[in-house]
Amino acid sequence: MYKDFQDHLLKSLNDIRDKGLYKEERIIITPQGATINVDTGEEVLNFCANNYLGLSNNPELIKAAKEAMDTHGYGMSSVRFICGTTDLHKELEKKLADFFGTEDTILYAACFDANGGLFEPLLTSEDAIISDTLNHASIIDGVRLCKARRYRFENTNTDDLEKKLIEAQEQRFRLIVTDGVFSMDGNVAPLDRIVKLAEKYNAMIMVDESHSAGVVGKTGRGVTELYDLRGKVEIITGTLGKAFGGAIGGFTTGKKEIIDMLRQRSRPYLFSNSIPPLVAAAGIRMVDMMTETNVLQDKLHSNTEYFVDKMSKLGFDIKPSQSAICAVMLYDAKLSQEFASKLLKEGIYVIGFYYPVVPDGQARIRVQLSAAHDQDQLDKAINAFEKVGRELKVI
Ligand SMILES: *Cc1c(COP(=O)(O)O)cnc(C)c1O
Repeated sequence: MYKDFQDHLLKSLNDIRDKGLYKEERIIITPQGATINVDTGEEVLNFCANNYLGLSNNPELIKAAKEAMDTHGYGMSSVRFICGTTDLHKELEKKLADFFGTEDTILYAACFDANGGLFEPLLTSEDAIISDTLNHASIIDGVRLCKARRYRFENTNTDDLEKKLIEAQEQRFRLIVTDGVFSMDGNVAPLDRIVKLAEKYNAMIMVDESHSAGVVGKTGRGVTELYDLRGKVEIITGTLGKAFGGAIGGFTTGKKEIIDMLRQRSRPYLFSNSIPPLVAAAGIRMVDMMTETNVLQDKLHSNTEYFVDKMSKLGFDIKPSQSAICAVMLYDAKLSQEFASKLLKEGIYVIGFYYPVVPDGQARIRVQLSAAHDQDQLDKAINAFEKVGRELKVI
């Protein structure tokens, strides 16, 4: 059997290669940070990690993690409800709820699991899920596992959302589902208008704050802070794998009864291992840091403004963004790849995205800013963009 299957796989893999969609992995031999070294010897400035607050290699988080290994060991060897819950897990859950102004939190091994295990325990075929078309893959998969009737609205289009809400009035419960920040454009969900529609058409709201937690809003509480809606949405999901230290782990936070039901019925929670205590301990330290000071958010916001401002003045076409994601539009797939590889030669590591990751004809370079970048590093990147931009006649 395997011979035939192998041929089949090799053919499919070749198709992927022929389309130029084969993903290679660059091997990093230093900690994640503003500068990284790759195994081919170069040191590059990193503008493509989700390390928005520069916490991936933060000494305080490393210290908290090391201490937790001494006090709580390495692994849990259990799911939460058998013998995988420590005081650290409970403390982190409480701290995340306080951070977001919610009632309770449930931890998962990843936000992929939080989203994958969210919908099926809560809603049935009597209910409706109304989901933004550009929502993350984990939301799409989670919704597929649930029997609720599915409606999709165009990205951030609240007129379309309203139509779908009207169509869904027959259903018992309605849940509007959206990413907080959309990862390819860096735009935010129009949560102010979504909340009004939810009130008008009697619906609940779920927001995935994976790209916005720690980033959006003056104190990094995410899009609910941006729109002054703390505590007003029923469900928030998020990751510890981006701004929040970058290791691993996800969570759902929100109304007490919802979290309680997830602890009883959510399959990735019931049937998958508990996060290691060291991750919980570093998470606790992280939330404490965010509560004590806003220096990292302030730095990230000023870095983003500086970069966008300089790049726009140079004549680059930048998508309006309310996050730390800056899409430099090039429109042409080949150009985006050439541009990114020339930038790498200048020591700037960014990724060019094109169809099908973004719509056809919408190729771009995505720049992710971080509080870890200093002014010199930003200037070096801007100068490299200018040089390559002129060379390739983009500006
Ligand atoms: C990254 C991301 C996830 C997945 O988070 P993990 O913790 O890495 O599984 C889920 N949703 C959104 C919107 C994301 O950007």
